[in-house]
Amino acid sequence: MNQKLSYKFRPLLLASALSALFFTGSAIASVNTNDTPIFVKPVSNLPQDFILGMDVSSYVAQKNSGVKYYDFKGNELDDLGFFKQLKDCGTTHIRIRVFNDPKNAKGEYYGGGNNDIETAKKIAKLATDAGLKVLIDFHYSDFWADPKKQRAPKAWEGMSADQKAKACYKFTYDSLKSLFAIGAKVDMVQIGNESNHGLAGEKDWANRAKIHQAGSKAIRQIAKEQKHNIQVAVHFANPEMIWADELNKYKVDYDIFASSFYPYWHKLSDVKSVLKQVKEKYGKQVMVVETSYVNTLEDGDGHPNTESAFKKDDKMEYPVTPQGQANAIREVVQNVWEIDGIGVFYWEPAWIPVQELPKKNKEAVIAANKKIWEKYGSGWASKAAAEFDPEAGEYHGGSAVDNEALFDFSGHPLPSLNIYKYLHTGHDAPISVEKVMAREFVIEQGKKLNLPSKAAVRYTNADIKRYPVVWDEKDVSEVNSGKLGIFIVSGVVKADDGKNYMAQCTVTVLSHNYLQNPGFEAKEGWEIQDKNNSVGIIPESNNLRSGSNCLKFWDDEPLHFIVSQKVKLDKGVYVAGGYLQGGDAGDSSKFVVGVKVGSKLYEANTNVTKWKEWKQPEVSDIVIDKDGTEVEFFITVDAQKGTWGAFDDMYIYKK
Ligand code: CA
Repeated sequence: MNQKLSYKFRPLLLASALSALFFTGSAIASVNTNDTPIFVKPVSNLPQDFILGMDVSSYVAQKNSGVKYYDFKGNELDDLGFFKQLKDCGTTHIRIRVFNDPKNAKGEYYGGGNNDIETAKKIAKLATDAGLKVLIDFHYSDFWADPKKQRAPKAWEGMSADQKAKACYKFTYDSLKSLFAIGAKVDMVQIGNESNHGLAGEKDWANRAKIHQAGSKAIRQIAKEQKHNIQVAVHFANPEMIWADELNKYKVDYDIFASSFYPYWHKLSDVKSVLKQVKEKYGKQVMVVETSYVNTLEDGDGHPNTESAFKKDDKMEYPVTPQGQANAIREVVQNVWEIDGIGVFYWEPAWIPVQELPKKNKEAVIAANKKIWEKYGSGWASKAAAEFDPEAGEYHGGSAVDNEALFDFSGHPLPSLNIYKYLHTGHDAPISVEKVMAREFVIEQGKKLNLPSKAAVRYTNADIKRYPVVWDEKDVSEVNSGKLGIFIVSGVVKADDGKNYMAQCTVTVLSHNYLQNPGFEAKEGWEIQDKNNSVGIIPESNNLRSGSNCLKFWDDEPLHFIVSQKVKLDKGVYVAGGYLQGGDAGDSSKFVVGVKVGSKLYEANTNVTKWKEWKQPEVSDIVIDKDGTEVEFFITVDAQKGTWGAFDDMYIYKK
């Protein structure tokens, strides 16, 4: 396959070609299924007290909806049996989210498990009775709190930060007291959920810290009264050093700095490195409090899943099978253990369909599921959520993670449910070829491509072996034909099982980019004028578009910076631009990308809208009428305080 492209369409097609490769990559591999036993190499020296947690916050709503769960022999489990099975599978802790008041004035619940404190109490009691420890995850909102949404509970609206802190103390104290009153023991409490950019409606750190501190004080008080050790945790969707610095600056009392880690969006080495720094600099304990991985790309309940075959930008590093889930979890645990972190939690392993969709005539079941989600709150949001969260009201529905559960769509445990136990003991299973690792190459037009002589083959136990590959000569000659575009080169690999497997690599042939370090992979070439230290060239996997680095900006002061590069161009017509994403810039902020040729300015104005929504400011028809003309490529930002985002993949091409 090859395609001649204009420079304008290249990024779009590059993305789709790459994702096509991921999925054909899975298809050519010998993929194991849900029934295949999983192979797990033990994590050596993993302490017996390493926390291996599961967040089953939707459990009560699921059971109210008629969902059944089974043991490995096919017997239906009662409530206590469900939690005992989790324990038998190596789980140590159960995480439970709490919304303050997730219902409207009519008493209609918002969904997402309808997790008020009453619902949380039921789950916590079952966990305690099954011999599991409990982590309570206070959102301090009436519905989901995340990096974009930290709305204060309805009852706290209009309050000052000091008043909210008082309300936080009371809510935390009363909630925890009511848990202990029914015999549910709480061992760990999270003050806030994914509180990257705020807490209970407060964005300013001085105010946020007051709420954090009040929550912490309530937890310490309850621990004293109950004579029971309770650890205090904070949680961010991805870890950044600045938050640990702010917590330290305002002397917030806490024990554990926790992060999420999702393999599709985050880079494990980044998460590991920041957690390690927090541990070393501030002496805090660290853990990953949310992770998960897909066992299929199918949807089980009629509500689209977060990760599906349509989600083309998300990388599937592991097989999309229970074995892949096991490999993904093992790698997180191994890495957290290596930095002496205390644990890992899996997010919502039991949020399966309320009724599994049949192969045919799905519509009737989807309609029935919609009614069940509304009635019992077993979907991520119900219509009633609209008053508190308009977006949730618009997109309300079922489970977006039924394909990331550790149960199948009908409630039977997958082999991956045993992963926590196997991390200590290991588990043997026949090993097979999982896939031939895909490769990507980018070359400049006119340069010849040297393809590797060997291809890496990955096995289901994550071992990698390299075998000689025979590349298709016709595909190779297409790449070297001098055309621009994206090319897929196929080849054949013979593995040690005697079978032939298809190898593939994607080769992108680009016209010459006149910028040095266009993707900020190094600092050379760029000049930064920035008085407030709001911008920098850094590795930041959450915000980049390609490679390992990007030009990241953020400040709690107004941002004013210019990043520029001088380039010599020969006579011709050029196009210049790049990519930008970010948020919290309001309407008055200015983002300009352009080129200065003598006294003539070519400028493109742009703005940021939301995370990973890439804008592409571009100027074209830049006329250079003399060889060796020096021009200046520039990025200028004047933005309000709190603005954040990143530039990546800047360019100047000849037309
Ligand atoms: Ca679904």
